[in-house]
Amino acid sequence: MKSDVTADVIVVGGGFSGTMAAAQLVRRGLGVVLVEGGGRAGLGTAYSTREPVHLLNVPAARMSAWPDRPDDFVAGGHDPEGFAPRREFGEYLQTILDQAVAEGLKRADGTAVLAERDGGWHVGLADGTKLVGRALVLAQGNQPPGTMRAGEGSDPALFVNNPWGSEARAAIARVAASGGDVLILGTGLTMVDMVLSLAAAGHRGRIVALSRRGQMPRAHAAHEAAPVEFAAVPQGNVLVLWRWLRKRSGALGWRGAVDALRPHAQALWRGFDPAEQGRFLRHARPYWDVHRHRIAPQVAEQLRSMIGEGRLEVVAGRMGMVREIDGCLSVEIARRGRPSTAIGANGRGNCFSAVFNCTGPLGTMARTRDPLLRQMIDDGLVALDRLGIGLAVDERSSAGDRLWALGPLTKGEFWEIVAVPDIRVQAQEVADDIARELRA
Ligand SMILES: Cc1cc2nc3c(=O)[nH]c(=O)nc-3n(C[C@H](O)[C@H](O)[C@H](O)COP(=O)(O)OP(=O)(O)OC[C@H]3O[C@@H](n4cnc5c(N)ncnc54)[C@H](O)[C@@H]3O)c2cc1C
Repeated sequence: MKSDVTADVIVVGGGFSGTMAAAQLVRRGLGVVLVEGGGRAGLGTAYSTREPVHLLNVPAARMSAWPDRPDDFVAGGHDPEGFAPRREFGEYLQTILDQAVAEGLKRADGTAVLAERDGGWHVGLADGTKLVGRALVLAQGNQPPGTMRAGEGSDPALFVNNPWGSEARAAIARVAASGGDVLILGTGLTMVDMVLSLAAAGHRGRIVALSRRGQMPRAHAAHEAAPVEFAAVPQGNVLVLWRWLRKRSGALGWRGAVDALRPHAQALWRGFDPAEQGRFLRHARPYWDVHRHRIAPQVAEQLRSMIGEGRLEVVAGRMGMVREIDGCLSVEIARRGRPSTAIGANGRGNCFSAVFNCTGPLGTMARTRDPLLRQMIDDGLVALDRLGIGLAVDERSSAGDRLWALGPLTKGEFWEIVAVPDIRVQAQEVADDIARELRA
């Protein structure tokens, strides 16, 4: 492969993980090229939203991109305890990217489709550009959701599979104008974003949000901290840990009890054997996620009032057959503990004008459609982690010879590695590691 751009390090993915890995590497005097294929360099999936109603779900005080400069984000004037619009965090991240470019970072706007290990790492982009580097960092983030079987055969403008894509934006505008009822599959953070987008667009119809357990993210609120030593936390067994957490939550308040586990979460996860990790994913995760990933109080209040007004209904149950009738979707829903019925939004037999898949990112890495990951998995250049939810990496986030992975791609190894406070540390440590290895 002939190279058009050479660098010490090629970083693929320009979201928070890739941008911060690149910025950290440039700080260490290394030549870096950052590859971004979705036009979202310095933004990624989370911070490319333009909607002011989409808020951070972490207080500004904890959102610095640099572990060694904890006040860096709030220095921009954000209320340390407040939940800033995510687009403002995107603007902040873009200033970091601009600074790194001023210090020598090269950008390659295009999708990486091919990698070869031949002396160095050779990476090909979809437009034919060829890059060569001594090290490669993979930071492609959460993989977009796979297609849902229930929606197969439905008009993709009605059954919207990717809530972050242009089809979702078009469907939101359409239902806001028509006032039709909406079904959201999933009741987590993506559902919250979707409800806020619909409300902001002026949608006045009803919204049904459906998941197996009907659990919604809880709200942030002031609480007493309840720190705990790692040695005092039960290890290696999900059920024992869960009982301990419930007891501690009862005694000290659940927010303090859950937050106390955060500093230990990676070590606890790595201390589970694969069977325990699988048990956590199957049984504990839905409850852990809604208590651990909390939403801004004002967002929780808006959802509460929409529920009170009957505009939003959160349903525990399963979706069955989907039928398209006269331009809308009739969906069979088996409410938990009740027989299945074909309902529209209000049970009176009307149809949903749109169904949004907000069940979250793809859970099975083997099904990724990212061309580079696909090729690297197929060619044995990377392996899946033991649970198949990400890539196999070691404790240094190394995925192979002069190859590193970052962020949600590494959640099989670390689990607690999807939010800024954790990824910023990983980006720093990976940059240290790469600098050490390339200078050895
Ligand atoms: C909606 C949402 C809200 C969140 N809110 C918060 C919050 O408030 N606080 C917090 O701490 N965390 C939050 N997070 C979590 C966290 O910040 C992100 O998950 C994190 O930024 C992950 O970043 P990433 O760079 O690994 O992935 P992504 O942001 O997904 O970025 C990956 C990038 O790689 C590019 N890419 C993919 N494949 C290729 C390829 N083959 N070639 C070139 N480019 C490619 C994509 O276009 C994309 O820009 C949120 C996450 C989401 C999804």
